[in-house]
Amino acid sequence: MSGPAGVDADAHSLIDGRALAAQIFGEASDEIDELKRDLGSVPTIKILRVGGDAASGVYSRRILKSAHRVGASGEVIQLPADLQVKALRATLRGLSDDTAVGGVIVQLPLPVGLDVRHVIEALDPLKDVDGIHPFNAGLVSRGSIGFAPSCAEAALQILRRTGVPIAGRQAVVIGRSSVVGRPVQQLLLREDATVTVCHRQTRDLARQIREAEIVIAAAGAPGLVTGDWIKPGAVVIDCGINVSSSGSVRGDVDLPSVAPIAAAITPVPGGVGPVTNAVLMLHLARAVRAQRDGGFPDAREMAS
Ligand code: NAD
Repeated sequence: MSGPAGVDADAHSLIDGRALAAQIFGEASDEIDELKRDLGSVPTIKILRVGGDAASGVYSRRILKSAHRVGASGEVIQLPADLQVKALRATLRGLSDDTAVGGVIVQLPLPVGLDVRHVIEALDPLKDVDGIHPFNAGLVSRGSIGFAPSCAEAALQILRRTGVPIAGRQAVVIGRSSVVGRPVQQLLLREDATVTVCHRQTRDLARQIREAEIVIAAAGAPGLVTGDWIKPGAVVIDCGINVSSSGSVRGDVDLPSVAPIAAAITPVPGGVGPVTNAVLMLHLARAVRAQRDGGFPDAREMAS
C-alpha cells in the first residue's frame, strides 16, 4: 500500500528513516553542489573529539561518511582528554576564523572537567551545525530560523515529510534536555502544535501520553513507552538510542506493543538516526550559505 514518503503502510506504518534520509541527503547534495560552483571550494565540516570513547568514534565516522555522500569534506580533529578549557576555546576560535571551515561539531559529552557551556561561545554560531551554541538555542526558542540540534530537527522533518498534520495537534515530548527534548518542543510550537514536555519528575507519564496525537520520546530509557499508553492512531517518533552491554541498540519505545496501535512509528535503528545524519549535512550547506551571506535568511518570529 502506498502512503506518504517514508511510510510503509503494510508494516504497521513503520517509518523508513533511511528512505527519508536519502531524500534529505539528495537535497543537501544539490545545495553543496551549488555552493561549490558559487564559491569554488568544497564545504568542509570539522569534528572536534576530545578524548573520546568507542561510541563517539563510530559517530565521527558516520559524519565523515555523510559528508562524503553529499560531496563535502570532513575531518576529525582528535584532542587529548586532558585538554584545558583555554586550549579548547582557542581551537574553536581558530576554526571560527578559518574561512575554509564551513561547520564544526563538538562531540559530546566532553571529558570530566570540561564543560561545553564554558567553551561553546568561542564558536561562530553560523558554523554551529549541531545547534548547541546559545545564540542558536535563542533563535530556535523564539521560533526564528537558526540551527536546532540535528536530532531534534530530524524528529520534525520526519513528521513534515511523512505528511503528519502538526498544527493544532496535541504533542507530548518525553525529555527536556537542551539537545533533544527542549528544541523538539520549540520546533513543534513553531509548527503550531500544543506541546506538553515530560521529564523524570512528571507524575503519571502514561496519562500524559494517552492524550497525545504525536509522541516524541527522547528519554534515553529503553522500552519506556508501551502500547497501553498510546492513543490509537497516534504518531510516535523514537529519538532514543540505548546501547545494551551486548552492543544491541534499542529505542525508548517498545516497538512490538506500540506499532499495532500507532498510525506510524519510527523504528530504532533505522528511524531518527539516519535522518539526523542527513539533517547535519543540510545544516552544513546552510551554514556555508549563511557565512557567505552574513547571517541567516529569515528572522521570522513565532506567533504568540
Ligand atoms: P538526557 O539524559 O540529557 O535527557 C533525558 C531526558 O529524559 C531528561 O529530561 C529526563 O528528565 C527525561 N527522562 C529520562 N527518563 C525518564 C523517564 N523514565 N520518564 C520521563 N522522563 C524521563 O538525554 P538526551 O541527550 O536528551 O538523549 C535522549 C535520548 O536521545 C538518548 O537515548 C540519546 O542517545 C538519544 N539521542 C539520539 C540522537 C540521534 O541522533 N538520534 C541524538 C542525541 C540523543
